[in-house]
Amino acid sequence: PWPTPGVLHVLALLYRGAMVTQLQVESTIDAKTGLLNFTSWRDMANRTLLRTQRIKQPVAVMLIDLDHFKRVNDTYGHLVGDQVLSAVASCLKADLREYDMVGRFGGEEFVLLLDNADLYAAVTTATRLRESISDLEIGDGVRVTASIGVAHSAQSSAPLDTLLERADVALYEAKSAGRNTVRALAAFAATSDDAVA
Ligand code: GH3
Ligand code: MG
Ligand code: MG
Repeated sequence: PWPTPGVLHVLALLYRGAMVTQLQVESTIDAKTGLLNFTSWRDMANRTLLRTQRIKQPVAVMLIDLDHFKRVNDTYGHLVGDQVLSAVASCLKADLREYDMVGRFGGEEFVLLLDNADLYAAVTTATRLRESISDLEIGDGVRVTASIGVAHSAQSSAPLDTLLERADVALYEAKSAGRNTVRALAAFAATSDDAVA
């Protein structure tokens, strides 16, 4: 039997709903790595930060930058470079808890927010991630390392942009120190009672 116009209308609505959901998911995910894109990471990180500020919980933000990644592209080509980005993203996801928020900051840089992590835990996590990345072997023996900058706020009093800026300063220090290393900074806000770490 032919579906009635009413049934067709319901089917069309269901189809449109599914398409909208799929588009919404696609617009939050970075296609190359399957991680959150920076815009959706930022939204989620800000929401988490509001909660951790309210309950004065510690929070850490990390910037993870692959070392000499341009050389990987120059040596093996951009397609292999893309495979490396995807492998590093999978490695980060596998190494973190379900609710740790990891995103692609852009290019060969990743960003991570850890809530309820003291400075020691944040640096320990960063070191573990750095080691996991350096242990990866992609395709025919392609290897990469990463430098990681960690910004920590003992009571989540620093805004997200301050944490990102501090993580960037720490990352720059990690690069200057020879790469494949972790550096950390405590973030301060004018009204903060964050302790020096
Ligand atoms: P450093 O250790 O100082 O970070 O050196 P680097 O070579 O990693 O940094 P640089 O900023 O000089 O180069 C980043 C490279 O990342 C250049 C760019 O082509 C590459 N890149 C950015 N996005 C992508 C991508 O989506 N795919 C591939 N294959 N390469 C990318
Ligand atoms: Mg970079
Ligand atoms: Mg780099």
